[in-house]
Amino acid sequence: MEKISVAVRFRPSTTEPNPSDRQWRLDDNRISLHRPLGTPITASSAPSFSFDLVFDHYAANASVHELLTRPIILAAVDGFNGTAFAYGQTSSGKTYTMNGSDSDPGIIQLAVRDVFGTIQMVTDREFLIRVSYMEIYNEEINDLLVLGNQKLPIHESLERGVYVAGLREEIVNNTDQVLELIKLGETNRHFGETNMNARSSRSHTIFRMVIESSIKNAISSGDVSSEDAIRVSVLNLVDLAGSERIAKTGAGGVRLKEGKHINKSLMVLGNVINKLSEGKQRSHIPYRDSKLTRILQPALGGNAKTSIICTVAPEEIHVEETKGTLQFASRAK
Ligand code: ADP
Ligand code: MG
Repeated sequence: MEKISVAVRFRPSTTEPNPSDRQWRLDDNRISLHRPLGTPITASSAPSFSFDLVFDHYAANASVHELLTRPIILAAVDGFNGTAFAYGQTSSGKTYTMNGSDSDPGIIQLAVRDVFGTIQMVTDREFLIRVSYMEIYNEEINDLLVLGNQKLPIHESLERGVYVAGLREEIVNNTDQVLELIKLGETNRHFGETNMNARSSRSHTIFRMVIESSIKNAISSGDVSSEDAIRVSVLNLVDLAGSERIAKTGAGGVRLKEGKHINKSLMVLGNVINKLSEGKQRSHIPYRDSKLTRILQPALGGNAKTSIICTVAPEEIHVEETKGTLQFASRAK
């Protein structure tokens, strides 16, 4: 499995069967602009992108999970850190992908089920699973399992590395318990909020599982000193802020547009992933430039597995945003 896999997912159109929505052509893992607006189709006017995976509007969350995120979950049970992101403009399907609907459970739920299903089959280890759920809004970290805005600080210590001080971590034993906690988190987030959409499009949500395991009967089996005696891995499932506030990618790469609403952490995330995907593990990677990348640092780079689901809207009015998202996705490869 590659360290960084990038997928693009189209959500269903809201205006089908209007044929003008058929802006994009999908051939296997390649996406091209079918009819560049107002221009005749030529090779140079029709941008084309290819990715590890492309999902059309028929794809269910279960297929996205099976092909893209499941390998990360299985690796996490084996002790590897992992992070999955949903990136895209507001209304492109990030939250649908991560949280799902009643008939189509999202990546978080499928991942949690996988974790519990997999550890049941591991007979020689004992597991301890902890979850936390937080939001980064205006560069402030809030615990979604606790009511109110706590503005939690990031601390760093030799033994714990980088961590969010005071973040609630719940020990969980089954999927239903986790789903209850997520529901609690959603209720807490909505509390006192008058404009939820504006807020959720500007905040990053991080659902985190810490998977700890130790060899059963390590002392009697004499395994206590083996490297494998204890494993701890961190799995982050992240619903990112809407990407529409970032400047469009120009020929010279992503540029930061001036203005107070720009979500700097998405820019930093793009830079971090870009450096990692170029294999520049040893060069300076700007994790410290945003809270998002600082928090995720242990599960980005190194031996960690990363997958990025770039969600896009098929409608004609979103063509420019979609191009921007596809460019972000291309840079991550
Ligand atoms: P975002 O989180 O990126 O702002 P949402 O996930 O809220 O976008 O999606 C916007 C709307 O489109 C929601 O009503 C959602 O239910 C619907 N939607 C998004 N993706 C899909 C999909 N793959 N299948 C069905 N409905 C979807
Ligand atoms: Mg959303």
